[in-house]
Amino acid sequence: MSTTDIEGVTDYELFIDGAFRASHGGDRIEVSFPYDGTVWATVPDATEEDVDDAVAAARAAFERDEWRDTKPSDRRVILNQIADTIDAHADELAELETLQNGKLLREMKEQLSGLGEWYRYYGRIAEEVESGRTIPVDKKDGQMFNYIRHEPFGVVGAITAWNSPLLLTAWKLAPALAAGNTFVHKPSEETPVSALRFVELIYEHTDLPDGVYNVVPGQGQTGAALTAHTDVDKLAFTGSTAVGRKVAKAAGENLTKVSLELGGKSPNVIFSDANLDDAVNGVMKGIFAATGQTCMAGSRVLVHEDVHEEFVSKLTERAGDIKMGDPRNMDTQMGPVAFRGQWETVHKYVQSGLEEGATLEIGGEMPADQPGECFIQPTVFVDVENDMTVAREEIFGPVASVISFSSLDEALEIANDTDFGLAAAIWTQDMDRANEFVETVEAGTVWVNEYRLIAPNSPFGGYKASGLGRENGREGLEEYYQTKSVWYNHAGEVGDPFVLE
Ligand code: NAD
Repeated sequence: MSTTDIEGVTDYELFIDGAFRASHGGDRIEVSFPYDGTVWATVPDATEEDVDDAVAAARAAFERDEWRDTKPSDRRVILNQIADTIDAHADELAELETLQNGKLLREMKEQLSGLGEWYRYYGRIAEEVESGRTIPVDKKDGQMFNYIRHEPFGVVGAITAWNSPLLLTAWKLAPALAAGNTFVHKPSEETPVSALRFVELIYEHTDLPDGVYNVVPGQGQTGAALTAHTDVDKLAFTGSTAVGRKVAKAAGENLTKVSLELGGKSPNVIFSDANLDDAVNGVMKGIFAATGQTCMAGSRVLVHEDVHEEFVSKLTERAGDIKMGDPRNMDTQMGPVAFRGQWETVHKYVQSGLEEGATLEIGGEMPADQPGECFIQPTVFVDVENDMTVAREEIFGPVASVISFSSLDEALEIANDTDFGLAAAIWTQDMDRANEFVETVEAGTVWVNEYRLIAPNSPFGGYKASGLGRENGREGLEEYYQTKSVWYNHAGEVGDPFVLE
């Protein structure tokens, strides 16, 4: 395949109340293929008025009986239809994802082929948790009947990042719909097309009522309009910690419920008794997969001093062999980063590593044999101290910072000496040591002898500055409903009005 396969530029519109419609403003965002910079689509840069329209449509849909009266089993049927639609269009959606952000087509095909499971899973479990449980309250000689109702919040405002656009959307949309909310989505300005095609497909192939799912593409100011909107009941955000703080601030102002999935600086820790080839694979998965653009990137590689030299030599050799190229080719192992600004960010961090005294083992530059301006070589720094910028800040690129340690205590101290707490991994054959690591490390996800695995039914989210709340699993559904406690008096007498019984 070559870029000559991209024919023309497609113009998309906003998707509100079940149909495409024009923006109130005239500004548009160009979407390009980061492999070589070809512009292949444009979308509106939605205005505040557009956001108002989308929220109004979602509010009206929430109040209409057609959605309000749905039972969990009705919503399960719709979620299964969404899953079937994804299955039927997985290849097309995967290609759109790759054209937007340059991630490997084979990774995106795999991601899209499993994406329907998120919708099926939440359709299934919403039926179980919404049945409500009775509480044996010790009041009025057992004559009070108390039970729990789970009710949706109303309108959910969702804002997502560009690195796995439809996956990050599923983590919010599937539980939000399962719980009975309506939804306004602001996708990343770098990757708005898959969201617009996805919502179009859903309205072509499922019974989702108009206005339940709306998409308003735009830049940061569109997201800010959504987060500040007083008719949004719940905010769900995936992105950087810096923007997450702004979203939390806006949510605080309106007292809007909020969940945040933010950045990371995750430690991937290798002990001398580990199977070193497996551990190298795990480190490659952690930092070079997706060109390092994953929130859970294992960007701090902690290696025991006894195997440091051997490990670094193996890792450097493997990094040097990585096949870069067109992300649409099935044998490419690493594509470009998603856009030029991200390339500049990554390169700036490489410079800071050099300036602060880390040793560049391999990489750090733009390869001469690739097109465009978004490729960066797989990069390994050694002699990294945990207080260097490359060990403290999220780079979001293929840059491994290798730090040496001599004991479990020291490894844990370094692992936890970070503002973040998204993920962590340990490579060892000693399960007592693994257990101590699992219990002590401050991270929302911990892998033992693995890296970068997720599942619809396993909760995901951050400790510390990596986020608020959880996505996936039962915890992910709980983010989308509120709990009502209901009391029925069967005793027949109300009691002393001046005493709290
Ligand atoms: P970003 O924070 O720059 O942007 C995220 C989204 O927020 C975009 O849609 C953007 O338009 C919007 N936005 C920007 N300014 C805003 C504002 N003032 N108010 C509201 N919305 C605003 O992040 P990014 O560069 O798109 O994505 C990379 C980041 O996302 C990394 O930090 C990565 O770790 C994080 N991420 C986290 C997870 C997770 O599950 N924890 C998953 C993927 C990515």
